[in-house]
Amino acid sequence: MDATPKFSLLIVDDDSADLAVLNTILRSDYEIFTAKSGEGALKVLSEKLPDMILLDVLMPGIDGFELIKQLKEDSNTRKIPIIFITGLENDNDEAKGFALGAVDYIRKPFKAESVKARVRAHMESAAQARASERLGLIDPLTGIANRRSFDERSAMEWRRAIRDSSEISLLMIDIDKFKSYNDTYGHPQGDVLLKAVARVFEETARRPADLTARIGGEEFGILLPLTALESALNIAEDIRAGVEALRVPTADKKAVTSITVSIGAASTIPKNNDRIETFIARADKNLYTAKDGGRNRICHDG
Ligand code: GH3
Ligand code: MG
Ligand code: MG
Repeated sequence: MDATPKFSLLIVDDDSADLAVLNTILRSDYEIFTAKSGEGALKVLSEKLPDMILLDVLMPGIDGFELIKQLKEDSNTRKIPIIFITGLENDNDEAKGFALGAVDYIRKPFKAESVKARVRAHMESAAQARASERLGLIDPLTGIANRRSFDERSAMEWRRAIRDSSEISLLMIDIDKFKSYNDTYGHPQGDVLLKAVARVFEETARRPADLTARIGGEEFGILLPLTALESALNIAEDIRAGVEALRVPTADKKAVTSITVSIGAASTIPKNNDRIETFIARADKNLYTAKDGGRNRICHDG
């Protein structure tokens, strides 16, 4: 008996030969389910949820793009990482796949080592993400760090900045008029918007040490270690403009919505007895100055 259960993998491809090749490459490492169509995949998924899906783009009936859309709308399947299988020279398919939420793509013809390596890498990072979630460090709605994670990691970065006399910056961000957005479009649509906004933050503050967290309902914090005020303000402006440019369609596609954010920024080189709470309060105060000044802006104090 195998002590640790294998991760499982659903492979969806209408081509029996491709299906067989992938099965051969991966079956010693994973428990494999297969389906030969989008419809077949939905049937499998109604009975068991695999840890990952390899999904052919081109299939008759429900194709890969349509299937991924459906899976991302269903809370049972939304989190399952999906790797697209594409033919040669289909760069557009790949871009579209990423836009729809695929984590990677694999090209035909398959190279066994590369297929194994990619599947393994994504299995591992998904397992790590699930572990973080189990440990209560991830906000389930947006998938970014939660309050607790922010408190723990920012305290650590603060101590490090004191020790190294290095600059540290903080952006406190609050969505403008979010209550009226919820009132107009409904709370579920508000959730969709929160996710879209969180993605802008993560895509903008992308250094490995940057910490983007959801601190409260519609309030976010971005801690930028080893970052001076000027750079922090550049990031803040990219975020402000990035959110302003967002166009988020409603679920029924009858309206396209947009929103803005206000940002309070602060930077410091903390000294021995400086407290992070004071620093956070400074950024918060600047956030409220931004709100008072008319919103959709960045304020700082030095
Ligand atoms: P301001 O520009 O002054 O920040 O106005 P506001 O309407 O954004 O501020 P307020 O703090 O009055 O409202 C925040 C709203 O955020 C109210 C609450 O319903 C909404 N909210 C908080 N958490 C969530 C959430 O998880 N999902 C959704 N959809 N809405 C949320
Ligand atoms: Mg608000
Ligand atoms: Mg608020």
